[in-house]
Amino acid sequence: MINVGVIGAKGRMGSQVCAAVEDDDELELVAEIDVDEGSLGDLVTDEVQVAVDFTHADAAFHNIEWCIKNGIHVVVGTSGLSPESLKDIAALTAKCEGNVLVAPNFAIGAVLAMRFAEMAAQWMPDAEVIEMHHNNKVDSPSGTAMNTAAAIARGRRQSVPAARPEKLKENLPGARGADLDNVKIHSVRLPGLVAHQEVMFGGPGQVLSIRHDSTDRKSFMPGVVLAIKKIADRPGLTVGLEHYLGI
Ligand code: NAP
Repeated sequence: MINVGVIGAKGRMGSQVCAAVEDDDELELVAEIDVDEGSLGDLVTDEVQVAVDFTHADAAFHNIEWCIKNGIHVVVGTSGLSPESLKDIAALTAKCEGNVLVAPNFAIGAVLAMRFAEMAAQWMPDAEVIEMHHNNKVDSPSGTAMNTAAAIARGRRQSVPAARPEKLKENLPGARGADLDNVKIHSVRLPGLVAHQEVMFGGPGQVLSIRHDSTDRKSFMPGVVLAIKKIADRPGLTVGLEHYLGI
């Protein structure tokens, strides 16, 4: 049995994590913490081995730091941690007992789609990412879209995208989307959406689409549960669920 504590337990994701942990025979939910419920100290009192953080970017770093210093492993779903914060977390894990996984996307299908996009980019280097989320999502583009663009850039290797016209004219600023590593990213925000992404690859006479849809927050739970079970064997900081899937 692994003792689990959830930080952000009353939130949209945290409440699903609590239910998923309670449903699993190998996990025991021993602590539920939120802004007005419990405190980090409960994680020690309740002998938590793995904490799961789905809070807000401005709270997550302190929670992670606290857990590592107390020898508690942390599975982090909260988005928006800066590269500097990740560096500090990596340095702390080198000195303390707690391991950390930060995963921008726990949906195994989305992680696979990112890997497939990286593979496709080697042969079809012209790609654009369209990410679509519910209208309450505050940040854009999504962390997944940025990771996908980086994966496409890595995957291109020797392949070079088709040259674009030297002077591009946007009749409305932003019409061609944002640019990361020469990959365009377009963000759509609408009620009715949950979390969706399509990567389109274009080549002479053909278009390839790799699409993933999270239609329910339940889609993230198998990845979270897998991470809780594996984190004790993964020392230090790991960024990305793909490392736990071996892909
Ligand atoms: P949410 O509904 O706002 O839930 C966050 C919860 O954490 C709220 O109950 C919030 O309380 C609480 N909280 C804030 N600061 C806290 C602290 N210091 N200690 C304890 N609890 C605290 O948000 P959500 O939709 O669940 O999303 C949470 C995070 O997960 C976001 O960063 C989101 O982008 C990310 N996310 C990641 C994935 C993934 O696969 N990695 C998937 C979906 C979402 P208050 O409301 O009172 O502030």
